[in-house]
Amino acid sequence: TMAHSEALLVLENFIAGKFVPCSSYIDSYNPSTGDVYCRVPDSGKEEVEAAVKAAKAAFPIWSSKSPLERSEILNKLADLIEHDLEAFAQAESKDQGKTITFARTVDIPRAVYNFRFFASSILHHTTECTEMTSVGCVHYTSRAPVGVAGLISPWNLPLYLLTWKIAPAIACGNTVVAKPSEMTSVTAWMMCKLLEKAGVPHGVVNVVFGTGAKAGEALVCHPDVPLISFTGSTLTAQRITEKSAPHCKRLSLELGGKNPAIVFDDADLSQCIPTTLRSSFANQGEICLCTSRIFVQRGIYSEFLKRFVAEAKKWKVGNPSDPTVDVGALISKEHLEKVRSYVKKAQAEGARVLCGEGVDSLALPTGNQKGYFMLPTVIAEVKDESCCMQEEIFGPVTCVVAFDTEDEVIGRANGVKYGLAATVWSSNVGRVHRVARRLQSGLVWTNCWLIRDLNLPFGGMKASGIGREGAKDSYEFFTEVKTITIKH
Ligand code: NAD
Repeated sequence: TMAHSEALLVLENFIAGKFVPCSSYIDSYNPSTGDVYCRVPDSGKEEVEAAVKAAKAAFPIWSSKSPLERSEILNKLADLIEHDLEAFAQAESKDQGKTITFARTVDIPRAVYNFRFFASSILHHTTECTEMTSVGCVHYTSRAPVGVAGLISPWNLPLYLLTWKIAPAIACGNTVVAKPSEMTSVTAWMMCKLLEKAGVPHGVVNVVFGTGAKAGEALVCHPDVPLISFTGSTLTAQRITEKSAPHCKRLSLELGGKNPAIVFDDADLSQCIPTTLRSSFANQGEICLCTSRIFVQRGIYSEFLKRFVAEAKKWKVGNPSDPTVDVGALISKEHLEKVRSYVKKAQAEGARVLCGEGVDSLALPTGNQKGYFMLPTVIAEVKDESCCMQEEIFGPVTCVVAFDTEDEVIGRANGVKYGLAATVWSSNVGRVHRVARRLQSGLVWTNCWLIRDLNLPFGGMKASGIGREGAKDSYEFFTEVKTITIKH
């Protein structure tokens, strides 16, 4: 159905500093109403070719600017986005389905911070030098930008994750061709409108909109794009790895997770319960770092479950633009059906659904009846080998199970193909360090969740990814190092 009351928003690609229309378009839905409200260019090889050409042409000038010059431009862009924070937050909420509160307090502030952070960090890198006096040699390393970076991002944290790639890529002197998710393209398009004013030269940042199969793959296969930074699903990453292999491309892959929370019997439940609710249901559970397997030590299992379920029931689901709402709409009808199907499978296997989907009723405002909403859902008595405990669900669904010993829980927590993030709840310092070291997880949060220092590495192990991002890691990824030896 079409929203006739409002004019359809039509996006255009941004190539060589200009907005250019596309010959065909894809419909984009407002997840909270189910209406088509926006049309996104359905770019393919031709559009990607034009964008790569523009990025290549801009590279010599941009890469020869000093870090300070680039830093000033990134800071200006951060200021401009921050100035329009409310408009960006409204757009992100409408396009993605997330609550306006989350967009205002997490997505857009972080997008601003991504530019500020890399504007600062690029000023502080140093390279290495060693001496070999016995043979009269000095060795040093020099780092240079790689060229045109291909950046591909997902729909869950649209501007947040795209700018987490654009900022370090251009700070290091690369030029970029970015492709946001076809389902959430609006804020990237809005950012393009600010680039000229920020002083970003034409061709330094190009954005092509479209699907993964067409636009994304054209970018991955382009011979003049030596580097791809991708955030998305493990399945897509496998395809990207295959497609880029003939070109020997440098890849950074930030993928899915099946993140455990481990709650020991000495945990402070007054902190653990509210944080674990957030880690399970924030952004509708559509964060790669969300908890979806909660292991609770037997002695506190029933108390935890009782309190956790009582609090989960208080989460308000509804119109994302209502600032009192905690859970907005899921990204799409297909995704909602997929998430629901996991709850059904769990039930069929004999698990107990304690609240949410199929158990409680969901009352939605009149305008949101066709939106893609779902209640926060807690499942107990699920077997470790169940698909609900093994596969990434990526929705507001979490499983709670009991454990007895430290060794046992580490084995079970590690018993999935993923290894992105874990949380550990305990007041025993020794145990916290011991468990953190043994978990197969790129990130371990103890007695907290989602507190990030962008200086430090971010990324997953096993099927959760290859490579890390952060001040030093992103610098290393987005530059090519050379070792130079001088004999004197
Ligand atoms: P997705 O893999 O379907 O899509 C991600 C991006 O890749 C989109 O822009 C898409 O158009 C593009 N794409 C799809 N097929 C492609 C192809 N063949 N070639 C090139 N590009 C292609 O993922 P999604 O559904 O948009 O996002 C959800 C997934 O992202 C979840 O698995 C989630 O865990 C993961 N994620 C990971 C992180 C992290 O940092 N580790 C962060 C957020 C999301």
